[in-house]
Amino acid sequence: MGPGVLPALGWRVALAFLAALFLGLVLGGLAWWLFAAALGLFLHLAYALSGLEQWLRTGKRRSRAAADGILGVIYADIVQLKQRARRRKKRFHRLLREVRDSTDAMHDGGVILNAEMEIAWLNDAASRLLGLDPGRDQGQHITNLVRHPNFVAYIEEGEFSEKLRMPGPLRNTHLSVQLIPYGNQQKLLIAQDVTREVRLEHMRRDFVANVSHELRSPLTVIAGYLESLGDETSLDDVWREPVAEMQRQVARMNSIVHDLITLSRLEAAEHPAGQEPVDVPGMLQQLHRDALARRERPADLSLRLETSALVRGEEQELHSVFSNLLNNALRFTPADGRIECRWWQDEDGLHCSVTDTGIGIPEALIPRITERFFRVDSGRAREVGGTGLGLAIVKHALLRHGGQLEIHSRPGEGSRFTCHFPPSRAVLPASAVSQESDEAP
Ligand code: ADP
Repeated sequence: MGPGVLPALGWRVALAFLAALFLGLVLGGLAWWLFAAALGLFLHLAYALSGLEQWLRTGKRRSRAAADGILGVIYADIVQLKQRARRRKKRFHRLLREVRDSTDAMHDGGVILNAEMEIAWLNDAASRLLGLDPGRDQGQHITNLVRHPNFVAYIEEGEFSEKLRMPGPLRNTHLSVQLIPYGNQQKLLIAQDVTREVRLEHMRRDFVANVSHELRSPLTVIAGYLESLGDETSLDDVWREPVAEMQRQVARMNSIVHDLITLSRLEAAEHPAGQEPVDVPGMLQQLHRDALARRERPADLSLRLETSALVRGEEQELHSVFSNLLNNALRFTPADGRIECRWWQDEDGLHCSVTDTGIGIPEALIPRITERFFRVDSGRAREVGGTGLGLAIVKHALLRHGGQLEIHSRPGEGSRFTCHFPPSRAVLPASAVSQESDEAP
């Protein structure tokens, strides 16, 4: 009730009761006159209230006179409230238009999803990049419309800390998408067009792969001639050492070219690794035997096979993984050191660790050692015959098997490289399966 209501009500009540009092005192029957005044006031209020109700409902005022007094004040207050609400609505609409215009001007797509993963809102870029219709697709489940298997898996997994790269709905386009949870189980889906970056990446990869392939033939020819030259009995002794050094350098170049080709092949592969059962225990035994046969190696070199389980995957890639890890351990561990390779299975999947008591890696550099050509001590790494590509190959090959590489290391104490494979990649060897079925009643 506004400040003007009480006076407006007050003088009418006072006037009515004063008139009733006067008439009652002059003519008698005071109670009746007071009752008549109260009734009059009540009827007047009822009539005015019905007018107010009609005005609120239809927007039409009955008459100026009916809106006098107390109701006139209420009318004025309501009109003011309505004007204020209209102004607030206008301001809100302007703000909304600005937000809509700015989000539509964004190059990145934005989609608001509710707790059920249904589309609540999207900007222009989202409809262009993801092929969505802002009108028709509202309320639809996002995976009914964006159906790429990687996207569906990303949504189903519910782990949104990383961005996902996937092909866009338009030909030859690539998107990077990420879901950002906020508020009450709502999510903001951000989609970026990364076609240019992906194209550049492809060009770089193809360039490296092409150069490596082109280098292979000349290197083979040079290596062949150098070998013949090294075997040549008439070669002057002064040339023996330079020829041997050239042979070592050509062998190094060959290893780099070989590793570059392997890495480009792994990077270019769009699908996960195949599902052929690979005898990893047998592979590790062979690598262990080869390591034992080396002239220079740590005295203590052990292999612990705790499971005979196999991995579904690509044999050549898995061989690269384990041979790179074991070779690194052998190269960075002194003769009095120890290397242990372990293969085991638990509810998290299959695991292979290669532990050494070698020179170790400074903690700050651990995240970087899987980068191409990154070496902790490049002089020493080259000396012991590394290409700088081994761990990059390991990381990529494991990713293609749904696996991960975990690294623990302390300088001067040693390192442990562990490969983790998901349970879905584990498979029992045929012999174990037949044994199990023999044992079945
Ligand atoms: P490289 O061919 O130089 O060994 P990698 O990619 O295999 O290339 O390894 C990168 C770097 O990581 C190595 O140069 C070395 O500094 C470090 N590193 C790898 N494995 C080990 C290990 N077992 N012990 C100590 N350092 C290691």
